[in-house]
Amino acid sequence: MATIGRTPLAAAVRALRAELAGGPHADLGKEVSELATLLLDRELRRFATVRDPAEQELLSSLPDAAAIVGTDGRVRVCNAAFDALAAGGRAAGMTALEVTRSGELAEAVKRALEGTARRLELELPRRVLLVQLTPLLRGELLCLARDVTEERRAAGTRRDFVANASHELRTPVAAIRGAAETLLAGALDQPGAARGFVEIVARQAERLGRLTQDLLDLSRLESRQWRFDIAPVDLAVLARQVVELHAPAAEKKGLALRVEVPPGFQVRGDGRALEQVLVNLVDNAVKYTPTGGVTLAAERRGEDAIVAVADTGPGIEAHHLARLFERFYRVDPGRAREAGGTGLGLAIAKHLVQGMGGEIGVESGEAGTRFWIRLAAA
Ligand code: ADP
Repeated sequence: MATIGRTPLAAAVRALRAELAGGPHADLGKEVSELATLLLDRELRRFATVRDPAEQELLSSLPDAAAIVGTDGRVRVCNAAFDALAAGGRAAGMTALEVTRSGELAEAVKRALEGTARRLELELPRRVLLVQLTPLLRGELLCLARDVTEERRAAGTRRDFVANASHELRTPVAAIRGAAETLLAGALDQPGAARGFVEIVARQAERLGRLTQDLLDLSRLESRQWRFDIAPVDLAVLARQVVELHAPAAEKKGLALRVEVPPGFQVRGDGRALEQVLVNLVDNAVKYTPTGGVTLAAERRGEDAIVAVADTGPGIEAHHLARLFERFYRVDPGRAREAGGTGLGLAIAKHLVQGMGGEIGVESGEAGTRFWIRLAAA
């Protein structure tokens, strides 16, 4: 260890004491001033590598990813959520650029280290972070990052939904307006033509009614205002009722409608919800099957009941299957609308089945499509 000559140092200490006691300004001399700077430097460097337990505890208590970035631009201390942002799971010692690979954040950190607080939304490849950079004393900065990926995604979904719903509603409204204007412009006085336009009005009004009802159901389901009364339901009886409802449509297309549910077969569910699910599935099967038939079957598998609606239709290509239960998702939009669909039937069915604590799925191939639901057997 280097030793320092006593005389100038002792004199400087005396002069400083005198200044602090109210005496004249102490001139410490070049060497002593340099020593003071070096001591401060060493202290700062020690501070930069030390993990202060109180600081660590404070960061760990924060709900967001949090880090203190040192004057050298490297993370000095951070909490576990911030560590998780780094590819290797450890952020200490890394720069903001190394942690997030975001040039935008690196630039903002540089500015913040110069003293400017910043708030920015970072779109990273797999997530969206809301970042707050606050300059601290000693030239460091506090970096808080909140993961808002889910919030931004939900907001996007809501925006898409409103846009899709408006688009769906606009079509029948435009058709009704067009037919009414044509009637008023003179077609009303031509009985032959008038009937056709009134039929358009009636058909489109019915479509509007279906759409608004489905939208209302979906909104009640998504806001959890739909009450499920779970009790044993006689599926054999329910299945027959549902199939009878679709018998006229099936007959018109020459489709065979079969029920293969053992007598007395019971599931645990909400009778009304289950009826609506089966109506939606059988309605689709009849709608999208040109020849052959539709079968509603049920079987027991352990503690579960599997209820399935299978058709002999053209099948659905595999890449559509994962998205089929999304709102307004259609394999062939033109044909589905033509067939009178709202694009909401399967989304509603999925909510209803999940509300009953069950699961819904689909498999499809050249022989046709099979939608299944799993519920607890009663
Ligand atoms: P839609 O009112 O258009 O029928 P759904 O949500 O009930 O809306 O169904 C979504 C899409 O899934 C339909 O537009 C159709 O393309 C496809 N689909 C549903 N059921 C069947 C089926 N049984 N066979 C073939 N395609 C089907």
